Amino acid sequence: MVMRRHIKSRGTAPTRSVARKTFQRKLARSGSFGLNGIETPMNWGIPPWKIDFASKPQPLPAEVDFVVVGGGFSGLSAAAWLKEIAPGCSVVLLEATRVGAGASGRTGGLALAEAAEGELECLGDVLGGYRDTLNRLGAAGDIEFPGVFEIARSGGRVDSPIVWEDSGTLRVIKEVAGGGIDPGRILSDLALAATRRGVLVLEKARVENVAFESPLVVRSSVGTIRAKKVLLATNAQSVELSGLAEHSWARFTLAVQTEPLADAALSALGLSSGKGFYTSDLPYLWGRPMPNGAVMFGSGLVDIADDADLAALDISQGVAAGLFASLERRVRGLHPVLADVDFALRWGGPIRFGNAWQMFFDQHPCSKDVIVLNGLGGDGVSFSVYLGRWAAEVFAGQRSLPSWGKVPATA
Ligand SMILES: Cc1cc2nc3c(=O)[nH]c(=O)nc-3n(C[C@H](O)[C@H](O)[C@H](O)COP(=O)(O)OP(=O)(O)OC[C@H]3O[C@@H](n4cnc5c(N)ncnc54)[C@H](O)[C@@H]3O)c2cc1C
Repeated sequence: MVMRRHIKSRGTAPTRSVARKTFQRKLARSGSFGLNGIETPMNWGIPPWKIDFASKPQPLPAEVDFVVVGGGFSGLSAAAWLKEIAPGCSVVLLEATRVGAGASGRTGGLALAEAAEGELECLGDVLGGYRDTLNRLGAAGDIEFPGVFEIARSGGRVDSPIVWEDSGTLRVIKEVAGGGIDPGRILSDLALAATRRGVLVLEKARVENVAFESPLVVRSSVGTIRAKKVLLATNAQSVELSGLAEHSWARFTLAVQTEPLADAALSALGLSSGKGFYTSDLPYLWGRPMPNGAVMFGSGLVDIADDADLAALDISQGVAAGLFASLERRVRGLHPVLADVDFALRWGGPIRFGNAWQMFFDQHPCSKDVIVLNGLGGDGVSFSVYLGRWAAEVFAGQRSLPSWGKVPATA
């Protein structure tokens, strides 16, 4: 799901205070486990991915070299790469709920090379670096990137395999590098790669606070730990830790997956090549054909005020339910073969954008020993792993941070 600058959408937050209070009471009582080993708040829906990893409860050491906060693609790749390049160092990864509980385990999984904010100086080869990092960590090395269709309602190719009706006729305008990955497998493999290299991965370990002393003092729900360096890779949640509240905004974005379609239907849709797609104009739509013949479609942003609001979000209610209904209507209107299609899955997840759609990859203004990696928006599948590795190389003194991705001093 590549979100380009021109897609500004601000849903209105319905009155969720009642739901929030109800949710907090329920959570206190029951905790929350969904299918596929992904711990989800009450009702964010079930994505198609399976994460095959569970950490073993272990005591928190008093002091380590590096603490990584966040068990998504960014945090896991940074922690595993730190041990790959500096095997003698000590690394602890603290994840508030379960590995993949944020956007990474709920993503659409289209890996792309471009950043939403456009050209970035000295960015390098994101997809090549992504594949090399996973290969060297032994995580899901057999990734194929068949390419991805950029589609639009004007300027489309006459021989476009895709001809869909959606507020105008959508056709392919170009193909870009990239392709669909299996986020569940990559998260599982990255978590295993990290633990096999000696990273202590602790789940259900929410970081409450980081004191910018030397060494840094990290207070969490499983105790306090001191560290020379800390990486904050918490994406949409815990914005107070990274100080990005004034400089970014979080949203809950949605996806659906159809029942498996016949080969003839996939061919009629122009999707038998296995290539994913996203629109470069509005209304926004992205998606990909799945190995079982189903097709995933995504669109829609639900406004979220804070972590409690996010946790209380229920996709069967309010703005989210309305956006799902309109997404499913749009999908059924795209092509006659989809007119009566059934949907097998509906889910969503949290993402964060910089106010100018920029990513944040910089030292925390309060401490040069803390790196903030955030604001990946809807483009984090490849960037999270690529920049996670880069953060590890900065901590190991092998590389410096880029000229972009600055965290404002007022953070
Ligand atoms: C529905 C959906 C579809 C998407 N589709 C695509 C796509 O096709 N292509 C693409 O490039 N991008 C896509 N994205 C975006 C992409 O998935 C994200 O940008 C990427 O996964 C971000 O990875 P991350 O590790 O930075 O964040 P996350 O995966 O969100 O990880 C952050 C982790 O930090 C943990 N955490 C938060 N606070 C604390 C705390 N205080 N203490 C400890 N842990 C904490 C959370 O529990 C979470 O596990 C999509 C996102 C969604 C939701």
